[in-house]
Amino acid sequence: MMVKKVLKDGSACNKCMQAEELLRKRGLWEKIDHIILAQEGDEESEGMRLSKKHGIEVAPFFLVQTPQQTRVYTRVLEFIKKELSSSPEKQSHQFQPQEAQNRYSQLSPSEILAEAQKAFGSKLALSFSGAEDVVLIDMAVKNNLPFSVFSLDTGRLHGETYEFIDKVRQHYGISIEIFSPNHKHLSQFVTQKGLMSFYEDGHQECCQIRKVEPLQRALAQKEAWVTGLRRDQSPSTRNHLLYLEEDHAHPGVSQPFLWKFNPLLDWSAQRVWDYIRFEKVPYNALHDQGYQSIGCQPCTRPSRPGEHEREARWWWEKSGQRECGLHIQK
Ligand code: SF4
Repeated sequence: MMVKKVLKDGSACNKCMQAEELLRKRGLWEKIDHIILAQEGDEESEGMRLSKKHGIEVAPFFLVQTPQQTRVYTRVLEFIKKELSSSPEKQSHQFQPQEAQNRYSQLSPSEILAEAQKAFGSKLALSFSGAEDVVLIDMAVKNNLPFSVFSLDTGRLHGETYEFIDKVRQHYGISIEIFSPNHKHLSQFVTQKGLMSFYEDGHQECCQIRKVEPLQRALAQKEAWVTGLRRDQSPSTRNHLLYLEEDHAHPGVSQPFLWKFNPLLDWSAQRVWDYIRFEKVPYNALHDQGYQSIGCQPCTRPSRPGEHEREARWWWEKSGQRECGLHIQK
């Protein structure tokens, strides 16, 4: 397990982030089975108690527990050399998708997420852009199990959204991998059609370049991903959602599809916001300006009174077409 420090202002400890990055670069991150947070100034946090117990005054540090002993490392390179380089390959996980729909309907979103985290570790990607996604990040961090997070930077997001992404990164002390559009394809597209072509001939082509292709890259090395999709976000396009789906639009590393988890599918917007307020989860400042569902700046407007949240996305198009292509099944 890895013990990471969170500073008093909620930001991540730099050395912890560097150690995590090094482990990720070397493909070893999935071998970290638990992440424990040491909250600066909170002697009762689990990480601080472990720090006191083992007499460690630096962060991060690593613990390897066996029935006979606990080995402690304060230097990531030594930890890699002595414990990870020679360790046997991770054994295959016990993931049982059979009967998942029935079983998951009895579990909380956090429990569904924990099952996904245990099964796939850092091969499980959490897609982050909106309020629901941060709820899932909050649950995943509290589960103390490994996972990875990515976000798509379309190049057309609001300034508030960029600030929000960094706020979440600092609040939880996590890395968020950012995927941008392919420069060559984007350059050709905007040179030929301009920067606002979606108002003329629909959003699909722009979304394909700025969102769908980067998503394919983000998921290329994964086995499973988690989304914050809810059924009531769009009755016409999201009513069919399941807790666990085979996503054949994206091949996995070891099989022709990814597992896609939708733990929040039965939550309402109200329930999401109750969680955000109760757990003090960071949120996008645009929500305080009347925005509900937030995408790119030119394609999102504040919601009008009584309007469904998706009505404020691509409002110039027919309602049944208002999906960006990230969640279309093949
Ligand atoms: S939401 Fe709008 S700006 Fe963003 S990728 Fe789609 S069409 Fe382009």
